[in-house]
Amino acid sequence: MFFGGDPFEHFAHGGGGGGGGRRGGGGRDVDTSKLYETLGIEKSADQKEVKKAYRKLAIKHHPDKGGDEKKFKEISAAYEILSDPDKRSKYDKFGLEGVTEGGGGGGPGGDDLFSMFFGGRRGSGRSGPRRGDDVQHPLKVSLEDLYNAKTVKLAVHRQVIVGEAKQCRTCDGQGVVMELRQIAMGMVQQIQRKCSDCGGQGYQCETKKERKVLEVNIEKGMRHNQKITFRGLADEKPNMETGDIVFVVQEKEHSTFKRKGADLLITKTISLNEAICGFKWLITHLDGRQILIESKPGEVIKPEGPGGTPYVKAVDNEGMPSHGNPFVKGKLFVLFRVDFPTDGELDLKTISSLKKLLPNPCMDIDVDDDEVEHVSLDAADVKQFGKGGSAGHGGSAYDDDSDDEGRGGQGVQCQQS
Ligand SMILES: [Zn+2]
Repeated sequence: MFFGGDPFEHFAHGGGGGGGGRRGGGGRDVDTSKLYETLGIEKSADQKEVKKAYRKLAIKHHPDKGGDEKKFKEISAAYEILSDPDKRSKYDKFGLEGVTEGGGGGGPGGDDLFSMFFGGRRGSGRSGPRRGDDVQHPLKVSLEDLYNAKTVKLAVHRQVIVGEAKQCRTCDGQGVVMELRQIAMGMVQQIQRKCSDCGGQGYQCETKKERKVLEVNIEKGMRHNQKITFRGLADEKPNMETGDIVFVVQEKEHSTFKRKGADLLITKTISLNEAICGFKWLITHLDGRQILIESKPGEVIKPEGPGGTPYVKAVDNEGMPSHGNPFVKGKLFVLFRVDFPTDGELDLKTISSLKKLLPNPCMDIDVDDDEVEHVSLDAADVKQFGKGGSAGHGGSAYDDDSDDEGRGGQGVQCQQS
C-alpha cells in the first residue's frame, strides 16, 4: 500500500507512471499519497480540510483516550507535513524523502518519520561509503519560542569539494601505507601507517569554504536537547557520505515558568487573607495572552499538601503544546506559598475579631498560677534539634541559657493574659 500508485501522479509530474513518480535520476519509486491516505483526505484538500481531518482523527486516536499510539503518531506526522505549504509541495514532488532530506526542521523528521511509515531506517548510505562526522551546534531557545514556534536563520561555514576527488596514488585509496623497518639483523617489522599524502582519507581533492544560511524551524513544544538535523550539510570529505549539521535545542531558563515535559509550573505566594478568603491573579502567558486565575468560592489554599508536600493546583490545557501535536497541551501547575502575617502585624482588636470569626478558636484554660508555669516560644532552627544541653559544649550552653532569660511573653500562641 505504501508504494501504491496514485492515479493523478503522472498528470501532475509527467514522469513515472506505474508505481508513482520517479525522482530525477534516483531511480527509486516514491510514494506521494500515503500522508493523504493517513488523514483520509483528497490530494486537492485545502488547508482548512487538512486541519479539520487532523483534529477529528487526533481526538479519535489520542492515546490518552485509549487510541493507538502508533496510529496517532502517524496522523500527527502527516499533519505536520501537509499543514505546511512548503513541506507539502516537497512531499507532493518527492515523497517523504523530499521532506526529510536537508529540509531541516526536526519534528518527527528524518529517520523517525521514515521508520514510522516504512519501518527501519533509510536504506541509502548506511552500508555504503563511510560517513563523515556530524557537526553539532547548541542552539539556545527561550521558552516563549518553544511555546510559539519560531524560524531562525543561521549562517554556517562548511567545507565543500571543488571538482572531482582523485584516488591517492601513494596509498591507492587505502588511506594507509605499509612500511618495512629493520629492527635487528635479519629481522624486519611491518608497520601500518596512516598515509600522510591524503591524511588517511585515501582520496585527494581541492576544497573551499562555503557560507550557507540555514533556516532552523523551532517547532511548538520542542524539548531541551531535541535535535534539528540538516542532512548532509557538514564538511564534505572525499569518498565519504557527508555528515549532518545538527542543532541541539538548549532551553533557556524562564523567570516565571518552570517546564517539565509538556507541563509548566509557577510558584505563587498569596497572603493568608487570600488563602482563606479567595484570590484573583492575572498572569501573562508565554504567547502574551492574559489569563485571570481565580479561586472558587469557599476554596482554601493551604500552606502545604498532604504529608508536608508542596500545595499544588493546576489549570488544564495551559501548559506547553505537545511537539508534533500542538493542540494537545500540558497543564499549568501552580505551587502555592502562603504568606502569614508577621509577629505583631495584627493589632489585638483584629486578632480578637478573627478569633470570633475563624473556626476552632483556642479555649481558655483555668490554671492555678502557683502550680503551673507559663512559658512562651523563641525562634529555633530544626537543625539544632538534639544539640541542646551542655554535653560536649563546655561552657557555651551556659551562655545560651542566660541569653534566653528575660524574654518571652510575646508569643503568638494562645495564653492567658
Ligand atoms: Zn594516500
